Amino acid sequence: MISDFHMHSKFSGDSEADPNEIISTAISRGMNCICFTDHLDLDYPEPDCDFDLDVDSYYDNINILRENYSDRLDIRIGIETGLEPHLAKRLDEKINRHDFDFIIGSSHIVNGMDPYYKSFFDTRTNKEAYTEYFTSILECLETCHNFDVYGHLDYVIRYTPYKDQKFYYSDYSDMIDEILKRLITSGKGIEINTGGYAAGLNAPNPSPDIIRRYRELGGEIITVGSDAHTTDRIGADFDKAEAVLKECGFKYYTVFKNRKPQFIPL
Ligand SMILES: [Zn+2]
Ligand SMILES: [Zn+2]
Repeated sequence: MISDFHMHSKFSGDSEADPNEIISTAISRGMNCICFTDHLDLDYPEPDCDFDLDVDSYYDNINILRENYSDRLDIRIGIETGLEPHLAKRLDEKINRHDFDFIIGSSHIVNGMDPYYKSFFDTRTNKEAYTEYFTSILECLETCHNFDVYGHLDYVIRYTPYKDQKFYYSDYSDMIDEILKRLITSGKGIEINTGGYAAGLNAPNPSPDIIRRYRELGGEIITVGSDAHTTDRIGADFDKAEAVLKECGFKYYTVFKNRKPQFIPL
């Protein structure tokens, strides 16, 4: 089975999942490689959520599991960092403390708010919200460079309360193309994140149109992640992700070791 390169455990502020159970689930589902990517979101604005990962404790704990399970599963250690333009230096200090295999850079906060909360859409139409979101990614790309793939590139559409208004890549193609070109020329990739299926989109994040466009523009690096926060979601909907990747022209998907891409045939 395709390796899951986006998953959260109890080291994330929004997950209770036991890493040992995640590992046994991955093995039982036929995976031979996984990567933990717990949350590191500095300056997260919601007071009840603590996403300031203790990177030392996290790395040491997962590293012990990596050794303990080395004959059964290839465990890699990553982080999902929440990008904001002003955080680049502080993220560097945290990330560079250890030899992480893989860093996902994600936009969770747009101008001080997380679109995960419906209140984001109280004062914005979908068009305004999406434009603001993609603009913020372009701003992050100016300063934040310490990541390997951009996470769930259209995260904002996952949480809109107006899901009946279909999202069309073509309405935002100028901004999205610019994002994709900048990622490609800087040697970075994107992910296909099956959390969109769990959120009722009937599609991954980003949308297949964006994944297809990334391939057309020459993008090759694409990891596959469930964004699981509970063990039951490990590898969820990966059959659908594989079909989308093939439809979009990919013959390989990507995993990372020591921050270097490795390409695995689909
Ligand atoms: Zn995320
Ligand atoms: Zn995540």
